[in-house]
Amino acid sequence: MSWSWNLLAAGVMLVWGAAVAAVLLACRGAIGRACRAPVFRRPILVLESDDWGAGPLSQAQALQQIAAILARHRDGAGRHPVMSLALVLAVPDGPTIAAGGAYRRVELDAPPLASILAALKDGLARHVFSLQLHGHEHFWPPALVASTDPAVVGWLRRAPPAVTEQLPSHLQSRWVDASRLPSAPLPAAEVRSAVDAEVAAYRRIVGEPPAVVVPPTFVWTRDVERAWAAAGIEFVVTPGWRSTQRNAKGLPDGDEGPIVNGDRADGLTYLVRTDYFEPARGRDAAYALHALSKAVAEGQPCILENHRDNFILDAEQCRRSLEELDALCAAALRQHPELRFLSTVELGRILRSGDPQWIVQSWRERLPFFWQRLHHSGRLWKLMRLTGLAALGTVLVATFGRQAAAPTAGTAS
Ligand SMILES: [Zn+2]
Repeated sequence: MSWSWNLLAAGVMLVWGAAVAAVLLACRGAIGRACRAPVFRRPILVLESDDWGAGPLSQAQALQQIAAILARHRDGAGRHPVMSLALVLAVPDGPTIAAGGAYRRVELDAPPLASILAALKDGLARHVFSLQLHGHEHFWPPALVASTDPAVVGWLRRAPPAVTEQLPSHLQSRWVDASRLPSAPLPAAEVRSAVDAEVAAYRRIVGEPPAVVVPPTFVWTRDVERAWAAAGIEFVVTPGWRSTQRNAKGLPDGDEGPIVNGDRADGLTYLVRTDYFEPARGRDAAYALHALSKAVAEGQPCILENHRDNFILDAEQCRRSLEELDALCAAALRQHPELRFLSTVELGRILRSGDPQWIVQSWRERLPFFWQRLHHSGRLWKLMRLTGLAALGTVLVATFGRQAAAPTAGTAS
């Protein structure tokens, strides 16, 4: 080869090397997350549903129907699917507020709400429910008391049980003062006493302290996390980041993160929801199964988000949602025979311990899952294909990757 051809080849290699370095540098965050998140040996499905507890009495029947559907199915270890229910512990005591002006609450163990609490405890006893904390209320009471919106003033004074889904979205956030927008942060001391009160209420109502919290509307701050940790909470469910405020339009904002499964701070371990199972919003069993298959390919647990409004606001919608839940459980087991159903707290404890019965340890066994995560990364994967990194990586993964050893774990602790 002539001198000029050598020079040309060296030039091409130099340009290619610079392009590869630029891609790796620009996408180091996404690559780091793909590396950091643990790889699971078998398919995991966690069903989470929020907003249950204090509220409409129609929840009691819906909970019984959900429990009956879940009890029809069992995974290979003989366990039923578990719905991890995030509980709201109180609604406003409207007539008392109307009479005195100050905020008063009706809690979930008050006699008028007894049928809901009984349905929750029945599902616990049947091992189809697991309970976790959502909030004492699904709002910050002083923000509602300060509101001059006639609809909010009326909502706060109506006879219980009120339906929090009817509040303006920004006022459904508990851990900021959204009485004015953009929202203001809450004083740390007020956060601490509110967390202590809600953890004490949960312990009294449920009979054991909460281990998992799901921040209402996913707006919360590090101050709130420190208070949760001090009160004994172990796990925080997230959408992959932390929104710290409501902006001038009332939307979640001030995002911090990203967060991946198993990340930790101040003694708390984070979990990250994968996708949705919300039949009322078109995210039905087929949609959820697609999310499950993608998570399985990536060695990620599939944590699906759901809300009570799929089941309690409309009888026909409730029937459809129950059918979709039944279809989801059946097809998940059919498509992934090795699948295990876990509650959120069980998954959290596996993540925190790094249990090798569940989590792949060897880098060679992790490699094919890491590669799938990059494959699903959107912009990064496009750049990798453009630069030839995808082709080169495929050869390397085929050479060095190993299939993960067959799991021996059957049940969660
Ligand atoms: Zn909620």
